[in-house]
Amino acid sequence: MSTATGGAQILVVEDEELIRALLRTTLEAEGYVVHEAATAGEAERLANNRRIDLFLIDLGLPDRDGTALIRHLRTWTQRPVIVLSARTLESQKVEALDAGADDYVSKPFGVAELHARLRVALRHASQTGQAGQSRLVLGPVTIDLKTKTVLRDGERVKLTATQWRLLEALSRHAGGVVTSRQLLREVWGPAHVDQGHYLRIYMRQLRQRLEKDPSHPQFLITETGIGYRLLVDPGLRTEAATAARV
Ligand code: CA
Repeated sequence: MSTATGGAQILVVEDEELIRALLRTTLEAEGYVVHEAATAGEAERLANNRRIDLFLIDLGLPDRDGTALIRHLRTWTQRPVIVLSARTLESQKVEALDAGADDYVSKPFGVAELHARLRVALRHASQTGQAGQSRLVLGPVTIDLKTKTVLRDGERVKLTATQWRLLEALSRHAGGVVTSRQLLREVWGPAHVDQGHYLRIYMRQLRQRLEKDPSHPQFLITETGIGYRLLVDPGLRTEAATAARV
């Protein structure tokens, strides 16, 4: 197991002891090395003293908001951050993602879903940490960020400049979630962060060009109330849908 995860060091920041213990057990079983913090302050001390490969952060912490911790971490590290948040608190997730988190797992969470999210985040981090990931292969679709080309079944797909910028923004965060505000800011500019309909229109166009069945997208995924995700791990949806939740 440890070869799959490479003994990556995970800092679990969670004040509920039971959940922390559960996370330790399940993460160690996958070969991760687990560090625990029950408060934001403890998390900062640990992060300053150890090489942490990924942060798993509960948003409701006793001493400080988890989002404030993420904002602080983002001043000095780009290591992946995955947040744990109650299923219904969409606005809280959006805030954490806008603060720099890469992804979220809703509580109660499925163990398979958690592991899949971690794998994707760590893989993405190691690829961007190297020469920068320039090519994404999503089934029949290949996105080349360097040459700005998209192939579908080997054939070049023509995209408008805006369609490309949207696909590029999603690709840079491949696997993770990007909030609607982030996408609107990156693609249309800061004056347009409230124009959610732009996104819906352009996502539909991208799906028509890239998805086999645009009404049942396989990788251009809507995260309702939050934003969008370019899914790079096709097994993830099935795993997430079928896994028992704990
Ligand atoms: Ca909590």
